[in-house]
Amino acid sequence: MSPFDTPENAGHGAILTVDLAALVANWRMLKQRAGTEAAAVVKANAYGIGIEPAVTALAKAGCKSFFVAHLSEAIRARAVAPDATIYVLNGLAPETGGAYAEHDLSPVLGSHEELLEWAGFRQSGAKVRPAALHVDTAMNRLGLWPGEGLDLAREKSGVIAAAGIGLVMSHFAASEVIDDPANARQISAFAEIAAAFPGVSASLLNSSGHFLPGCPSYQLTRPGYALYGGNPTPGKPNPMQPVVGLEAQILQVREVEAGTQVGYNGTWTAKGRRKLATICLGYADGYPRNASWTDRSQGGSALVGGVRCPFVGTVSMDLIIIDVSEAPAEAAKRGSAVTLIGGELDLEAVGAGAKTIGYEILTSLGRRHARHYVGL
Ligand SMILES: *Cc1c(COP(=O)(O)O)cnc(C)c1O
Repeated sequence: MSPFDTPENAGHGAILTVDLAALVANWRMLKQRAGTEAAAVVKANAYGIGIEPAVTALAKAGCKSFFVAHLSEAIRARAVAPDATIYVLNGLAPETGGAYAEHDLSPVLGSHEELLEWAGFRQSGAKVRPAALHVDTAMNRLGLWPGEGLDLAREKSGVIAAAGIGLVMSHFAASEVIDDPANARQISAFAEIAAAFPGVSASLLNSSGHFLPGCPSYQLTRPGYALYGGNPTPGKPNPMQPVVGLEAQILQVREVEAGTQVGYNGTWTAKGRRKLATICLGYADGYPRNASWTDRSQGGSALVGGVRCPFVGTVSMDLIIIDVSEAPAEAAKRGSAVTLIGGELDLEAVGAGAKTIGYEILTSLGRRHARHYVGL
């Protein structure tokens, strides 16, 4: 029986399975490794797996702090985590203080302008939780310059006190590359910042930061990718449990002769007699078109009966063609399920096949899959 025969999957082209027990196990593992309080980064719909189920499961497991990118995401997280501290990484957009107060949220303040606006809002009598302060130690993206942070910290009665800062944080630019010299520079720049804010909690580690030798954990960590099963130590065995699985259904199987061109614009040519299967998933399901496999460039693949089968031609909107010549015949037939994410096709392998990173694969996970939350 194919998984597509069940009532909840019938009519869907692909099945996305999210293992919430693995998500929680990954959070506990990272927390134990850091030996400190661990938050969870749940921006971008919890990296594509669904913000409500992710936050609900993690909050139940004892996670007390969450980071999102947007205020709208924070409001969704608040609805399922009434007591948690919820930080908005992208900071205080103009005139949004009222929404922070209404939903009891905390901005991650990243510029002097944001600090002043938030301090003014608090001084006007608004009741809000402490905010976080972002210091930029490498990225040149969001956050105060380190020197600016140190100067403000020294003015005891200044804007920092008025803004009510409960957390000071910075973000790694290259923590997945263990020997990148930027890591040591950021670790030492942040040590100076953290010391300038005595009594304020500090947070530096993202997923890969947990695996950087000699990096202190401070009071709060901020893992994202690794919670969802991504490998925080690329090139080395993945210490995390897989959270996401994706299967798609075979619609048709056909044999083609040598010289046959396949797919839009005939970008792939059969070099011999090949057996091809067309599966019910495409770029409209979040599978990148950059995973196309042409005569000139390699692309993605699927597992069919445990055998890795390359894509053939361009990824279309709703369909992908795969070469199932080497797969067992009983697995490569109409109605069968093939694996797009799972087993040896982990997030890193899928990302590589699409000339991107596992993060982008996760955060693009499609909206029209049958979704199943399992494990809890
Ligand atoms: C996204 C993000 C994280 C989480 O990073 P991962 O590499 O997914 O663990 C942590 N901190 C900040 C500021 C972020 O933007």
